[in-house]
Amino acid sequence: MQIAFIVPELPEVEHARRTLSRWLEGARIDAVTVQDARILDHGVTPARVVRALEGRRVTAVERRGKWLRLALDSGRVFSHLGMTGKWVRTEVGAEETRFEKIRVDATARDKTRRSVRYLDPRLFGRFVVVKEGEADLKAWNELGPDPLVDGIDVSALHAKLAKRRLAIKPTLLDQGVLAGVGNILATEALFYARIDPRRPSRDLSRVEVGKLSRGIRRAIDRTLAKETGETIQYVEEPGAPNPFTIYGHEGEPCPSCSRPLAKMFLGGRGTVLCVHCQR
Ligand SMILES: [Zn+2]
Repeated sequence: MQIAFIVPELPEVEHARRTLSRWLEGARIDAVTVQDARILDHGVTPARVVRALEGRRVTAVERRGKWLRLALDSGRVFSHLGMTGKWVRTEVGAEETRFEKIRVDATARDKTRRSVRYLDPRLFGRFVVVKEGEADLKAWNELGPDPLVDGIDVSALHAKLAKRRLAIKPTLLDQGVLAGVGNILATEALFYARIDPRRPSRDLSRVEVGKLSRGIRRAIDRTLAKETGETIQYVEEPGAPNPFTIYGHEGEPCPSCSRPLAKMFLGGRGTVLCVHCQR
């Protein structure tokens, strides 16, 4: 079965971080163009963004959960890819790309120039500039531990889950529990851990939370290993291959026991599971 499209989760955003870091870390921003002010927060003008960024040097490209943060020699920029956002690199002076919202032209330390552009057909992304001395974004500050940046502390996660009566699958989607886990990662990780997504979070044993944390890491590593191009490839075309183990494979044989995978809705989100293997 094909999947409609993939919303960026931790692995896709980590891939975007790695490429952006190659393109922009250490570079000085020469010019910024905001083609579509709807990507900015309400009340923020393109002129203000341009003033805050031009002439600044990018010191690091960081990520927590599904958020990117560009640290500058003064201030920082937060970028969220929403559902369909992506950063691409083009020739300097190349024509405006389809769905282009923001353009950043910069000069690297080796004096080579580059043009990096943010494209977003559905426009659910965000681009927020925070000046030196201002607090980080609230959404960034409220994120729980990031499985790659911080690792998963099994005891701490077990203690956190022990306070939640909600089913484990929707609990994992709470960005304050673990940053960056979305519908795909949660579905795949619970299958790897052989845990039924409907189980109340507080009923999971410490051993099961350990299996779950290894399942999350396995699902992240598996997707990251498939990201080979320069920019994220969103699977949008009908008939495009589904790269996941059980996500989007409802009705097909379980990879473990060969009985058909089931689909149900939990917390309003489609969930695939094997009712025989996941307990
Ligand atoms: Zn099975």
